[in-house]
Amino acid sequence: MRYDYIIAGSGIAGLYAALLAREHGSVLILTKGSIDECNTRYAQGGIAAAVGPDDSPELHLRDTIEAGAGLVDEEAARILVGEAAERIRDLVRFGVPFDSVDGEVALGREGAHSRARIIHAGGDATGVHIELSLSSLARMSGITIKEHCQVEDVVVEGGRAAAVATLDTRTHTRETFEGQSIVLATGGNGQLYRVSTNPEVATGDGVAVAYRAGAEIADMEFIQFHPTALRLPGVPVFLISEAVRGEGALLKDARGRRFMPEYDERAELAPRDIVARAIHSELAASGADRVYLDITHLPAERVSARFPQIYRYCLEHGLDITKEPVPVSPAAHYMMGGARTNVWGETTVPGLYACGECACTGVHGANRLASNSLLETVVFAKRVIDRTLLNGEQPAAAPRTPDARPLPAPAIAEAPPLSRGALQSLMWDEVGIVRDGEPLARACATLSAWQAWLPAPADRPAHELANLVLCGRLAAEAALLREESRGAHYRRDFPQPRDEWRRHVVFRSDV
Ligand SMILES: Cc1cc2nc3c(=O)[nH]c(=O)nc-3n(C[C@H](O)[C@H](O)[C@H](O)COP(=O)(O)OP(=O)(O)OC[C@H]3O[C@@H](n4cnc5c(N)ncnc54)[C@H](O)[C@@H]3O)c2cc1C
Repeated sequence: MRYDYIIAGSGIAGLYAALLAREHGSVLILTKGSIDECNTRYAQGGIAAAVGPDDSPELHLRDTIEAGAGLVDEEAARILVGEAAERIRDLVRFGVPFDSVDGEVALGREGAHSRARIIHAGGDATGVHIELSLSSLARMSGITIKEHCQVEDVVVEGGRAAAVATLDTRTHTRETFEGQSIVLATGGNGQLYRVSTNPEVATGDGVAVAYRAGAEIADMEFIQFHPTALRLPGVPVFLISEAVRGEGALLKDARGRRFMPEYDERAELAPRDIVARAIHSELAASGADRVYLDITHLPAERVSARFPQIYRYCLEHGLDITKEPVPVSPAAHYMMGGARTNVWGETTVPGLYACGECACTGVHGANRLASNSLLETVVFAKRVIDRTLLNGEQPAAAPRTPDARPLPAPAIAEAPPLSRGALQSLMWDEVGIVRDGEPLARACATLSAWQAWLPAPADRPAHELANLVLCGRLAAEAALLREESRGAHYRRDFPQPRDEWRRHVVFRSDV
């Protein structure tokens, strides 16, 4: 059967796009795990939107551009902040129960936002409320949903995306589905790193699929490391939301010294890259593996009411955050890069669209402003569906970048044995929070050799490993090329931003 829309991924971007698309034609959602396995369900802080009485889209735009360190696409960011309120109304219409106070939407504060503008649900359980509201609506609305169905590749025929090749991850059978519009909404690649807030499914599949289909991939060197992931022995990585610092939590070392004011005048509310690097440098100097986030000075009832999920999770693991500081360290969190799109979510391959974390619309530049990612998913998913209606049978594409380059051909060479763990350690140690020319060059050579030796993938783990290696190469090669520091990309050997690097690194396989 041929579908009007094939949507890969069932996080907020895929589900929201599908719910809009079903008004206009047949929709198939393909998702490689069960429907609710995705980054979205772990989102805590909320969605940014300038809806407060003292706020405006202009102020939100200013904060977004400032965080993005000179690489934000202003047109895309203006759309992001301008269409925010309407998209929040859509989510409310789709059943998302956002929190309110005295009949008004409740607004939280997060780092690098000049106003309180973070809309949340269930306190710090925003993602799970969004995911469950949208997935139950999708199940009820006649959309065909295939779970445990991994998209292996996009089939390009006559220069346009025509179908997707899939693998049923339980029966290991392969099937191809034809589609008029193919939308990648496959999320990020946090599984590239040893310490990550992202779940198992975040393996960069959409970026790898898009690259193999000939689409352009941009900004892959910009990986956001979240400064504060819970660090308790034997306890899985768990995010301690930025909103906790927004409420007044202070970062301290083991001796109780508050260190952030020494790094930035905004102290704990500085952008994530600055806070993550400050912690990295404190840890390197002290040899410790954690610092402490202290919120014990706030009333206990306020903390447990505002952060019920974090409070409960820590308590289950023996830590009462209203009485003791929380041990934390940085973790890989968000991929700013992805399949490059224009402001309509079109990639450079006609008929192939991308939205959500797997897309690079340019709104985040070199560093995402907290809570702008959930917003980006809905703003641009809506524009994808609007565009498919305008395009009709003849899909257009984003213009190609003149100086896009292919990855260097994989080179057969000696390399340590490849496993997901070995890859994650290499990326953490050599393409991590603080980078340097020599380790980056070493990482590029190892990744290239790993790619040269990879057998054709036959099951989901093998596909994921191959896709992670490709994403690792895109990130490491871009990081090696970018001889400067900007936003989330920090090079010890080039510690300042350089004007000639106020541009994007773009890869395309068919150059
Ligand atoms: C712990 C945590 C907290 C966060 N907090 C916030 C926050 O407060 N505010 C904010 O704005 N952002 C936050 N983020 C980021 C935000 O949650 C994500 O960027 C966003 O949810 C991405 O949505 P998505 O739909 O693009 O991807 P996802 O929600 O990750 O969904 C991707 C989907 O694609 C599927 N998939 C992947 N590969 C394939 C394949 N090959 N074939 C088929 N299906 C595939 C996955 O199984 C999944 O269903 C947070 C992220 C994390 C991890």
